[in-house]
Amino acid sequence: MIYIQKSDGAELQPLLDAAKNKDDANVYRAGPVYEKIKTDFHSKCYLCEDNEVTSIQIEHFEPHQNDLPKKYAWNNLFYSCGHCNNIKGANFWPLLNCTDAADQVWESIEIHFTPFPKTTVDILLSPSCPKKQEGENTRQLLEKALAGKGTTAMKTDEAAILRQKMLRVYNDLSLAIEKLDMDSIRKAISDNSAFAGMLRWYLKNDFPDLFQQVMP
Ligand SMILES: [Zn+2]
Repeated sequence: MIYIQKSDGAELQPLLDAAKNKDDANVYRAGPVYEKIKTDFHSKCYLCEDNEVTSIQIEHFEPHQNDLPKKYAWNNLFYSCGHCNNIKGANFWPLLNCTDAADQVWESIEIHFTPFPKTTVDILLSPSCPKKQEGENTRQLLEKALAGKGTTAMKTDEAAILRQKMLRVYNDLSLAIEKLDMDSIRKAISDNSAFAGMLRWYLKNDFPDLFQQVMP
């Protein structure tokens, strides 16, 4: 999970307000609202950071529970995948907000990926997390989404598929590190790359000098 600099949506909120009066959710499933969310989130699920999402969902960061102002608030609309959104539902609240720099989402939630003998992911809450309850809820949500712990058999299988995708970018970054290919290293951990949060932690923990060089 990384910080997402979301637009202020000033030109889009009027469209959302008009749709709110008819409770027409299509306003954010297509057209300018959808396109702006997709661009802002780099076409990545904000939770798992997969960028090859086959079940794209515009999800409500704070569960709206049929509260229409929450359902049609620009600030509450996030780009996610069906896997993560389904796990999240209304079960995890409050959470760290990846669009709020003050929440320090990347620094707060360490994603520790182990490639072998089988792929595993440990999600750790940093002692520096500025919001403990939000941080712990976020940690538990990501543990279900990425490690597949304590969830259904199907979700566990979906989490394993995500970890296979994570393994590919992990291996790509490992190769770039071996070759000291700085451009590729920078690209792998850039905001719009898949699983950038996990890769940044890998670099920070295992290659701290390189991390210092490439992180802005
Ligand atoms: Zn996801």
